[in-house]
Amino acid sequence: MKTLGLLGGMSWESSAQYYRLINQAMRERLGGTHSARLLMLSVDFAKIEALQHAGRWDELGDLLAGEARRLEGAGAEVLILCTNTMHRLAETIAAATTAPLLHIADPTARAIAAAGHRRVGLLGTAFTMEEAFYRERLEAQHGLEVLIPEADDRAQVHRIIYEELVQGRVEARSRDIYRGVIARLVQRGAQAIILGCTEIMLLIGPEDSPVPVFDTTALHAQAAVEAALDGRLGKDG
Ligand code: GLU
Repeated sequence: MKTLGLLGGMSWESSAQYYRLINQAMRERLGGTHSARLLMLSVDFAKIEALQHAGRWDELGDLLAGEARRLEGAGAEVLILCTNTMHRLAETIAAATTAPLLHIADPTARAIAAAGHRRVGLLGTAFTMEEAFYRERLEAQHGLEVLIPEADDRAQVHRIIYEELVQGRVEARSRDIYRGVIARLVQRGAQAIILGCTEIMLLIGPEDSPVPVFDTTALHAQAAVEAALDGRLGKDG
C-alpha cells in the first residue's frame, strides 16, 4: 500500500470527510482491520481564503507547493489536494513535486461519463465555476459540456460555502437555495450535477436533486484508495 499525502484544511470540515471516506474505502477493499497509510498536512484556511479573495494566486502557489514538498519529504507517494478550488494551482504543485497529484476533476468526469451523462451542472466556489481551470479540464480532456448557474445563483452558492459550510454551519434555508439552483440547471438541460466543492456534500445529497449528483469529495477519496492500492484487488491484504 502506498502512502497517501493529503493537503488539507481547505477546509478541515471536508478534510475530515476525506479521512473517514478513505479509511472506509480501504476497509471495504482489504477487509478486517485494514486502514489507509496516510499523512495529512492541514493548513490554516483563514490565510488561504484571504489570499484567494485578494487574487494573490502566485503567493498561494508558492505556499501550497512548499506544503506539498513537505508532504513528499515526509514520505507521501501520491498527493491529494482536498479542495476543488485550489486545483487552480494544480500545475504549480505538480511541477514542485515528483509524487503524482491525483486531480479531483478526473475521477469525477470518469464517473459521469461511465453513467452516460454529457451535459453537467457545476456547483462550487466562484473561482471553480467562473474561471477556466476546472471547466476546461472537464470539457477538453473529458468531453463533457459544463453549465454553470446564472450570476445571482453563483453568488449565493459561493456565499454559502464561505460564510457557512467551511465554518461548519449546515442550514436548511441554504439547502433550499441550493435545491433551487440545481432545479434551474436541470431546466437548462443538466443531466447530472457536480458537487464541485468538497463541503457541498455536507449540505446536499441525491435526494436534493432530480438528476444524479456527483460528489467530488467521495469520488476523489475513492480514487485515492485505488491509487494507494495501485490496482490491487480483493481482500487478501
Ligand atoms: N473546499 C472548497 C472546494 O472544494 C472550497 C474551499 C477552498 O477555497 O479551497 O473548492
